[in-house]
Amino acid sequence: MAAAAGAGGCSPTPSPPGGAAHRVQVCVRLRPGAPGQEPSVRRLDARTLQLLHGPRRASEYRFDAVYGPGASQSDVYLGSVRPLLPHLARGRNVSVLAYGPSASGKTYTMLGTAEEPGVIPRAMRDLLQLAGPEAAVSASYLEIYQERLVDLFAPAGPTLRLRDAPAVTVPGLTEAPVRRAADFERLFLPAARRRRRAARTLLNAASSRGHALLLLRVTAGAGRPAATLLLADLAGAEDNRRTGNAGRRRLRESGAINASLGALRRVVGALARRSPRVPYRDSKLTRALRDALGGSARALLLAAVAPDPQDARAARAALDFAAAAAGVVNRDVALPPPDAGADDTTDGPDTPEAGAPPSPSLLRRLEDAQELLEKLKAKHPPAPGAVAEPVVVLQRRKGCRRWQATPRPDLLAAARRRVLRGLNGDPRGLRRVGAARARRILAWRRRHGPFASLEQLAQVPGFTAAAVTALLEANLPEALEPPESQ
Ligand code: ADP
Ligand code: MG
Repeated sequence: MAAAAGAGGCSPTPSPPGGAAHRVQVCVRLRPGAPGQEPSVRRLDARTLQLLHGPRRASEYRFDAVYGPGASQSDVYLGSVRPLLPHLARGRNVSVLAYGPSASGKTYTMLGTAEEPGVIPRAMRDLLQLAGPEAAVSASYLEIYQERLVDLFAPAGPTLRLRDAPAVTVPGLTEAPVRRAADFERLFLPAARRRRRAARTLLNAASSRGHALLLLRVTAGAGRPAATLLLADLAGAEDNRRTGNAGRRRLRESGAINASLGALRRVVGALARRSPRVPYRDSKLTRALRDALGGSARALLLAAVAPDPQDARAARAALDFAAAAAGVVNRDVALPPPDAGADDTTDGPDTPEAGAPPSPSLLRRLEDAQELLEKLKAKHPPAPGAVAEPVVVLQRRKGCRRWQATPRPDLLAAARRRVLRGLNGDPRGLRRVGAARARRILAWRRRHGPFASLEQLAQVPGFTAAAVTALLEANLPEALEPPESQ
């Protein structure tokens, strides 16, 4: 994900099939348990752990790495994160996602303390060294709080929106240049410790109330491809009975956290099953993590787990999620040749010549079309084995410079026939447009006979041409249904 379409360039998403495949790496870190308690999760060796559920039942899980309660911040960083950084110098995005239940050690692992710095400060220092004196590094820091995007470097800034195409970007998000590790820490640490929303719960004195995504953008030198290191400290799933959350605000926060983590689980499940439909659009979090999961990034899921017996259920859910994530495969995209492609920073007229980057206004229309498409597909998922057909088409009228996204003509025609049938059919079927409008339609029919075309509806008082179009669009999902057998 990039800070802004145009300002910082595009990360190479989405990935076309055919690029080199690389599986999402998964490591698990067990935090120290409460003294005097038998742990319910144990590290067996460098890659295996055991979960005890009940006195006689145990499951074993195998991951790319397992870090026990004695592992240091440096062990986790050097063992699993540091080896990914060289990909950035080659223009490949890298994502590290800390996932796990509340109070399992995600923020400790990513941020750490002054004495025991975590993944973020360590990665920043190495990145600056690795990138060399010619490199340009910048940082953006985004919080997803109750489905809103907050710029943690400028929290009072304008409302931010996430754009999906051609890469996931957040126009307007602050992108601060970083030259020295000390500059970064001065900027980042107060934002992470004070601006990020956190609250005391029964499980954690400073429980994160939203997902925090740090984006470090690196260009290794002039003409070299840019790449983004995403370091995400996700909020943990919350069981309100255990966290003691109460009050409208806390419950709304935990509701939003749990809903977005549910969406994340569905996305990972769909990717692991190789499902043709991946529900990225169900939450801001899944949209933002598109390149990390099922995209082009070299990705690492860092699952944090608490080993105490009272946390066994949450640990099991986190380990099952981690095991599913290990089945997700990302793919490289072709990188632009050196020095190719200046970024698209203008919002001028559409100039979609072959090879030119699409303009922001065209992208906005594409996004709207994509949103309509997703709504239609969600309402009518294709039958297993069905061949997916486009529902929205993008076209440009002859002699016209503007592109338009419109529903497929046959779907539009089917929706038109359906609405017309309704207008001329049983008066009870007209109730859907409201009683007053239904009465006016019936009055028109009594005076003029049946409607010969949908456009005649605009002659009925209370119906504008825009209302007719809206009615047509509302009937599009039904038009996707297979024709009834005669
Ligand atoms: P989360 O972000 O998953 O909700 P935190 O990272 O805030 O949880 O950790 C909860 C508490 O446990 C904090 O007080 C933190 O310092 C402590 N903690 C977590 N992991 C470790 C660890 N590996 N070693 C020592 N303390 C830890
Ligand atoms: Mg946290």
